[in-house]
Amino acid sequence: MSEILLKAIGVRKYFPIKGGISGRTLGYVHAVDDVNLTIYKGETVGVVGESGCGKTTLGRVILDLIEPTTGALFYKPDEASVNQLEGLYTELTANGARELKKEEKKILGTTKDNIYKSRSKRKDFRSRVQIVFQDPVSSLDPRMLIKDVIAEPIRINGVPKEDGTNDGTGARVRLRGEVANKYVLDIVTEMGLNEDHLYRFPHEFSGGQRQRIAIARAIAVKPEFIVLDEPTSALDVSVQAQILSLLKNLQKKYNVTYMFITHNLAVIRAVSNRVIVMYLGKIVEEALTDELFEFPIHPYTQALISAIPIPDPTFKRQRLVLSGDVPSPANPPSGCRFHTRCRFAKEICSTEEPKLKEIRAGHIVACHFAEEILKTETSSSGIKKTRETAK
Ligand code: SF4
Repeated sequence: MSEILLKAIGVRKYFPIKGGISGRTLGYVHAVDDVNLTIYKGETVGVVGESGCGKTTLGRVILDLIEPTTGALFYKPDEASVNQLEGLYTELTANGARELKKEEKKILGTTKDNIYKSRSKRKDFRSRVQIVFQDPVSSLDPRMLIKDVIAEPIRINGVPKEDGTNDGTGARVRLRGEVANKYVLDIVTEMGLNEDHLYRFPHEFSGGQRQRIAIARAIAVKPEFIVLDEPTSALDVSVQAQILSLLKNLQKKYNVTYMFITHNLAVIRAVSNRVIVMYLGKIVEEALTDELFEFPIHPYTQALISAIPIPDPTFKRQRLVLSGDVPSPANPPSGCRFHTRCRFAKEICSTEEPKLKEIRAGHIVACHFAEEILKTETSSSGIKKTRETAK
């Protein structure tokens, strides 16, 4: 297994709902609930789910843009502390307790390598990670020339020493003057833009060009990890393909790790090594990309995959339509959160929350009936057709 770059344990993010004259807290939106996540160096991990499933919040928590309500985030932890932490967490949650007790939280929170416990570690972490948003119009300052948009993070965070590749040694240098100008020109050229573009404002570009500029700004500091939050959703299909190919080339060249957030499963299949499926703030299924598309087990994943359009009008397939709306994350259903829309739901599903467990090698699913579903579905034509749609 390759080196662990990031490890999130027991992450929850609850947003308070304020109301009344006094502005008191009336409840909480459970945006991300009890998520454990490992990201390996050099991979692309896809995070998929409907709007409101918590994937964007998870991306922001992972980047330390927002602090989680509970949980810990570890950057390049050593194997011993990862094992110790996982053991500890399993022990703490084995009795089904939804909330970690104060003392237990303290143990997790103070463990070495937790970025929240060291100011310098946190600062160093932030200089090594970047984000690309869906809408570059709002993420690029309209009053700044492109050369300044790209040079700003270089001035603040610097770039790794020597040849600028992210070798992880930690040494960084801040570029200024002519050296910085030359560096910025090299970056925009690599993105398929030219020197003239440096002296224009963001509104003078098309959507695809603006996204190239946003990627240039992110890649300029030679980060080790980038969260791509729906980077192609607002673009035409032909431009989408160009941006995906650009991202792949940059990953190869700079050995950068991606978390690719999208609701588009076809895009996820094209770019990811591993896929995480989220529903109402929880991870419900996780597997290597080919494995997930070949053997989707969770009923929610099966429905998502069956909705991928196939460019062949003669091909007939079974579409698994989800009934009802996504329940409110402020008041998630009891037991399995998917039980209000699940075609396999039984009594236990509304009372007992299923835990994530490994059903096939490296394939984890949160469903009481995962084994049964896998057995029946793989032998039925229904899921076979569902799988064929993803090819
Ligand atoms: Fe459906 Fe029950 Fe499995 Fe949840 S636990 S996905 S409701 S069968």
